[in-house]
Amino acid sequence: MSTMASDESQSKTYLPAGMPAPAAAPDGVDREFWEAARRHELVVQRCNSCGTFQFTPEWICHKCHTLDLGWHRVSGRGRVYSWERVWHPAHPALKSACPYLVLVVELADAGKVRMVGNLLGDPMREVNFDAEVEAVFEDHPEGFTLIQWRLVDR
Ligand SMILES: [Zn+2]
Repeated sequence: MSTMASDESQSKTYLPAGMPAPAAAPDGVDREFWEAARRHELVVQRCNSCGTFQFTPEWICHKCHTLDLGWHRVSGRGRVYSWERVWHPAHPALKSACPYLVLVVELADAGKVRMVGNLLGDPMREVNFDAEVEAVFEDHPEGFTLIQWRLVDR
């Protein structure tokens, strides 16, 4: 007879439920990012005029100041730029989740754009700067998808 894990350990999400759900901004500036995540695609805003990538989404290109911005699908690969093991819950819903790992990931193919997410797996694992990671699309029953990260096996 196998040992059954607790319901909590069988959760399909890295962090427990109860956090405020992310939502696109009312002005729609980041709507495509969230809709792409639901399709399990990682997209980054890119200027149609000068080609510069930027994140988080804005209405104006930070480099050439045009308003002509588009979206570019990227590979979902990146490297650990920075990381932190969180021991103190930043929200009451996270009391049972500590410790957990937070990453800043520098994307491989988006002009060094960086994103924040969690590193899936053992929260006590060793994390190396520059370790290669890939995006994991974590669907939540509330109807949104978070982009998390996992280490790429070499
Ligand atoms: Zn530009």
